[in-house]
Amino acid sequence: MRAEIIAIGSELLTPFRLDTNSLFLTSELNKFGLRVTHKSVVGDTPEEMRSSFGQALERADVVVTSGGLGPTDDDRTRETVAQMLGRKLYRDEGVFQKIQERFRRFGRAMPEINARQAMVIEGATILPNPKGTAPGLWIEARGHVLILLPGVPQELRGIFENEVQPRLARLGIKQRLYTRELRITGIFESDVEERVSPLYPQYPDVEVTILAAPTGIQLHPRLWSEDAAKAEAQLDELVKRMSLVLGEYLVSTRSESLEEVVARVLTERRATIAVAESCTGGLLAERLTSLPGSSAYFVGGVVCYSNELKTSLVGVPAELIEAKGAVSPEVALALAEGIRRRTGASLGVGVTGIAGPTGGTPEKPVGLVHIGIADERGPRASEFRLPGDRERIRQFSTQRALDMVRRYFLFPA
Ligand code: AMP
Ligand code: MG
Repeated sequence: MRAEIIAIGSELLTPFRLDTNSLFLTSELNKFGLRVTHKSVVGDTPEEMRSSFGQALERADVVVTSGGLGPTDDDRTRETVAQMLGRKLYRDEGVFQKIQERFRRFGRAMPEINARQAMVIEGATILPNPKGTAPGLWIEARGHVLILLPGVPQELRGIFENEVQPRLARLGIKQRLYTRELRITGIFESDVEERVSPLYPQYPDVEVTILAAPTGIQLHPRLWSEDAAKAEAQLDELVKRMSLVLGEYLVSTRSESLEEVVARVLTERRATIAVAESCTGGLLAERLTSLPGSSAYFVGGVVCYSNELKTSLVGVPAELIEAKGAVSPEVALALAEGIRRRTGASLGVGVTGIAGPTGGTPEKPVGLVHIGIADERGPRASEFRLPGDRERIRQFSTQRALDMVRRYFLFPA
């Protein structure tokens, strides 16, 4: 079965507000076997709403709207839908009393305009709103289901969870969505595609979406099916084959983040880690401490931006910085080794690079980053040429550093 979402609200057509309700609604509708085939965003304008509704009713079995159920004149969803369906609006006394009570509870008199929120479309089922004044409406018309929900995200969620979920379950849709999530890092999106796409023809029913970010690439194989066992088996097989072609770039098939994988391997090996950061300014320490329980492996770190601090706090010889430059493999090694020695951690990581936008030279361009990693056998360093602006270069640097830690344990050279 097909579903469409219409996000209603003129503010959603400005640069200041984004339609986030449809993300929640898509995930929820998917759980009940409804495939979202279209989404639209319209202002509180009856003509635009009519056009979106008209199209949605032609294409989808279930149409969900968010917004336009407020008390003010610009909220017109109720009126427009009633008119389109040729149904009357009436004031529901039960809803009216609930709205009055709600205002009483907060010690306020009900403004006259809120009476509009007690207007209900003939034949609709009222979906009570425990977190606000406007109830949702469930309407069955012309073989379709229309679900009208308020735009305030927590009200929409509350009504969805209490009232819409049980009704969707009763529709008895057999088809379900089965998904997997693979996390990958250290490889370009196009290279991921090149490795996995030869598998696609053998899984024609599986749709694979690819999401790329500085924190890695995600592959989401998705399969709609009425046969759970068959779908799970097919996805398991595909994930296994994807894992083989992705090799050591694969971080997780269980939606674990890189931070979680690093935390797991450090904990399993009873290893500890300390960092000396220059261009990442503490972002690496931030990521290493983002999970609860990080004190089990994270000893601490130093943000040594100036050359003086690299020397005084981490013990990088001033002559080395003088001879090789602060952004050099030698300094990355010395940072890693120095922080390891000074903190007593089993592993030291050093990051030095040029985040830009200024400070680049032809030999050492913006995006050049050296990362060192040191254990009791000594340090080693890798050089990266990272793309993007300052923020992306800094993010990519922490990603590469965390990935070096992951590989240090899982794929020792
Ligand atoms: P409404 O029910 O149209 O009065 O919406 C009330 C408020 O909810 C708006 O002012 C927005 O801040 C928020 N809102 C409405 N629609 C959405 C949406 N699609 N996604 C996120 N927030 C929304
Ligand atoms: Mg609105």
